Amino acid sequence: MTNIIAVAGGKGGVGKTLIATNIAVLLSERGKTLLVDADVDNPCVLPSIRGLDPKIEKIEEVTRFRPLILQEKCDLCGKCVEACPEHALVLIPGQRLIHIDSLCAGCSVCKLVCEKEAIKEDTVIEGYIKYGKTTKDYNIDLIIGELKPGERRSYVIMSKLLEGHRELFSKYDNVIIDSPPGTGAGVFSVLRNSEKYIIVTEPTRLGIADLKKILQLIEEKFGNRKVVIVVNKANLSPEGVEEIRKLCSRYTVFEIPYSREIAEYYARGETVVDKVRDVRKIFEKIVEELLG
Ligand code: SF4
Ligand code: SF4
Repeated sequence: MTNIIAVAGGKGGVGKTLIATNIAVLLSERGKTLLVDADVDNPCVLPSIRGLDPKIEKIEEVTRFRPLILQEKCDLCGKCVEACPEHALVLIPGQRLIHIDSLCAGCSVCKLVCEKEAIKEDTVIEGYIKYGKTTKDYNIDLIIGELKPGERRSYVIMSKLLEGHRELFSKYDNVIIDSPPGTGAGVFSVLRNSEKYIIVTEPTRLGIADLKKILQLIEEKFGNRKVVIVVNKANLSPEGVEEIRKLCSRYTVFEIPYSREIAEYYARGETVVDKVRDVRKIFEKIVEELLG
């Protein structure tokens, strides 16, 4: 059975990718492992594992439907305007039909309802899915989701990345998904498609506030899943850690200390668990808790 593990955290910059990449290294010692970068607005996995020499072997475009209005065929009946769930079509009576692409979800309902065949299919590239693997020291397969600069529909990439790869995920022993930050639709999608969660936070006021939000989401919607809490840079605020431990009394809480050594490895794109024995021990305990 595949262990599908989401690494999420309410706030951006708490160390999700540091945790995801190092967990992937440890799990790759135990079985066939896939690391998925679902932070499609700001994918950081590749630069974070430069030291493992990642190679991208294939890039697929992710496209969406965009209606192309053939004004010469359009009789301005307005059926598509009524049917559009996003109000992305505007009829100027007696003149023309206008499409507002920034509102369009690409659902193609307008094309389906038009009896005059006045709407043709056009496609827009929303982003990319990159497939690759690490080629040095550890065998980790990679899938990276990436939103095209200037595009906003990250859900199109997320859907292809997660729902579109379910069958592929089942061929691995371990799938680690580096989630987007926050508690929005992208995070919800990652949580829904995973079975175990590592929730990463920092012992700061903002970190704790965002931790509360993501735990509330998990408890309301995914309360039966395994949850492990990781406090990154724990030694910077013992009071903050204490508050997190009280808040998370029903979960196992692990602490990763801040150290210049960890920060320097991460900045160089190198994983830590294969270099710093004390840090490896903490990560091994996290893995044991998740898989145990
Ligand atoms: S349904 Fe077709 S014909 Fe009617 S307004 Fe829309 S595009 Fe024009
Ligand atoms: S594709 Fe969907 S959202 Fe876009 S204009 Fe057509 S009906 Fe509206």
